[in-house]
Amino acid sequence: MRLLPNLTEAANGLDARYRKHYLARDARQTIIAIAVWMVPVLLFAYGDLIIFGVGTQFAALLALRLTFCAFSVYTIRALVKVATVRDYDNIFLRWAAFGIALVTYFNYIWAAYIPPNGALTILVIFSSYMVFPARLAVRLAPPLILTAANFCLQWLVVEPVNQPALFSSLVTLVTANILGIVFSTWLQNHRLIEFKARLEENKVKEDLSRLAATDDLTGALNRRKIMELSTGEYERFLRERQPLSVVMIDIDRFKKLNDTYGHEAGDLILTSFTAYVAKGLRHGDIWGRLGGDEFVLILPDTPVEQAEAVAERLRLGLSEPVIWQGQELSFTISSGVTAAREKDRSIDQVFIRADKALYSAKRKGRNRTETV
Ligand code: GH3
Ligand code: MG
Repeated sequence: MRLLPNLTEAANGLDARYRKHYLARDARQTIIAIAVWMVPVLLFAYGDLIIFGVGTQFAALLALRLTFCAFSVYTIRALVKVATVRDYDNIFLRWAAFGIALVTYFNYIWAAYIPPNGALTILVIFSSYMVFPARLAVRLAPPLILTAANFCLQWLVVEPVNQPALFSSLVTLVTANILGIVFSTWLQNHRLIEFKARLEENKVKEDLSRLAATDDLTGALNRRKIMELSTGEYERFLRERQPLSVVMIDIDRFKKLNDTYGHEAGDLILTSFTAYVAKGLRHGDIWGRLGGDEFVLILPDTPVEQAEAVAERLRLGLSEPVIWQGQELSFTISSGVTAAREKDRSIDQVFIRADKALYSAKRKGRNRTETV
């Protein structure tokens, strides 16, 4: 049940991710603070006893203190399960609203005996800043409301008006708020910097592992990654007995294309061909460049006939020429297709067979698919 409207707009982008990253830690910290604040609320029942003695007023105040503690326990239970920043903010602000009302009310009740802005109120103000990590405009609300309420209390309720006490109270409250704002902002900034550094570090790690797994020119998987993934697929083939096919592809007379149009035109053919094949991949297919103009397509859960059909579709679909400096570059491919067999000792054996089929396609005149 949401008693308060969404007082805190979920911040966009980085801020939202930063808050989400620290949510579990912030919730834990707030749980500790709420549990600690229950202690003085209960202990001060002794103050009620001293001031009012045993009677109905004492019983009513005790009931109020116990209600607050029950609400604190309810809040702690909600914080243990909290899953979103918005929920966390609402839960905390709801608890803070009750807390402010309670502190102000007790300060009012006790005003004739103890000045309202005692050490504990100052501590409440400071710790509220430190515990609640919302953006400053929202973080300010609970301590500033408590400050204003207590100052008004001292000003309007405490009789006779004691100018030096009022002044000292004002200075203390302002100091507590300034320290709260400065230290909590410093803490938030420090955590945000740490969070950004971590994001940067993760990005560098991702870039590094992508670079280690892909071919510089085409962006397709490189030989090392292909061997790693295909070995995994081969082990799965042995375990699950699902068909596993391999299509080895080589561009026909690529050297001649290079010689005629230049190396850069050759590069363009390699990248265009990679993108062309990648467009038609299914989830789970492994597509990469083994080196030079030789590529491989690994098709898990695919029988050899289907793999042959895929190779033929690729070969026949190459009708669109690549445009290089206004010239149309047409090229053809040859493929060797095979499927993993139980007697293969490793994925290397399957690759060797696909390579033989490819060699056979080249020997038979190129621009064709051979299956073994
Ligand atoms: P075949 O039909 O028998 O395959 O003839 P081919 O000319 O394609 O022969 P081969 O596959 O042996 O030739 C590969 C050529 O690819 C040789 C090399 O100069 C060229 N090559 C290798 N890597 C690159 C590259 O990154 N960019 C370019 N443009 N050319 C490359
Ligand atoms: Mg070739």
